[in-house]
Amino acid sequence: MKISLIPAFDDNYIFHLLTEDGLSIVVDPGDAQPVIDYLDKEGLTLQIILHTHHHWDHINGDKKLQEKYNCEIWGPEHEIMRIPNMTVLLEDEQTYTLGASQFKVMHTLGHTRGHIILYFEKDNALFCGDTLFSLGCGRLFEGTAEEMWLSVQKIRALPNHTKIYCAHEYTQANASFWQSIEPNHPDMLHILNDIKIKRKSNIATIPSTVAFEKKYNPFLRADDPTLIATLQLQKKRPKDVFAHIRKLRDNM
Ligand SMILES: [Zn+2]
Repeated sequence: MKISLIPAFDDNYIFHLLTEDGLSIVVDPGDAQPVIDYLDKEGLTLQIILHTHHHWDHINGDKKLQEKYNCEIWGPEHEIMRIPNMTVLLEDEQTYTLGASQFKVMHTLGHTRGHIILYFEKDNALFCGDTLFSLGCGRLFEGTAEEMWLSVQKIRALPNHTKIYCAHEYTQANASFWQSIEPNHPDMLHILNDIKIKRKSNIATIPSTVAFEKKYNPFLRADDPTLIATLQLQKKRPKDVFAHIRKLRDNM
């Protein structure tokens, strides 16, 4: 499967997927025009829109794209009242076939009540919407820190080589936050520098990998004794450490 990034708005990524047998799919088109421009350039049409959650910057392109391409809209069953015109309702723990590719749905509470992530095992790809960002995680708009901690652990449990396609380019700001809470991490400076060089040249820091996020993302390390010691939270449970880190990030 070929995966392409389509930048939208200030810092969103819409993802285009082309399966081995030529099915053309987009994930979370918050805006139609960048998708239309991409499809025109590639000489493609559109068969399916996939959704992770209901926020406007992930769904606002649907109407125009469905009118133009008569495509299907597949999205989370629990967001049926908030994502119009869905043709397939995606359920937790179910596997779905898209031409030559398959993906598994995982329900991830925390950012929105119905948020799902889409795991393409054979293609080593995870589309995680606004659940996880590189070195960060989504804001808790409709869920608790405990729910989000459980959700990000589902991502942490995937194979290390899995590529993580996050829906926003927030990596640089997240890296600054990480530096503020763990300034003496031995790999900090070279990672900050890598990100800075990429962003200066307008190169995407996405996809990340499960291995990278497990090692560095503070939100996946709420049970890491080194980080817990740095934060002086030795007596706290991981879900409380997670909540503390999320609060620090919200207030940054
Ligand atoms: Zn969102």
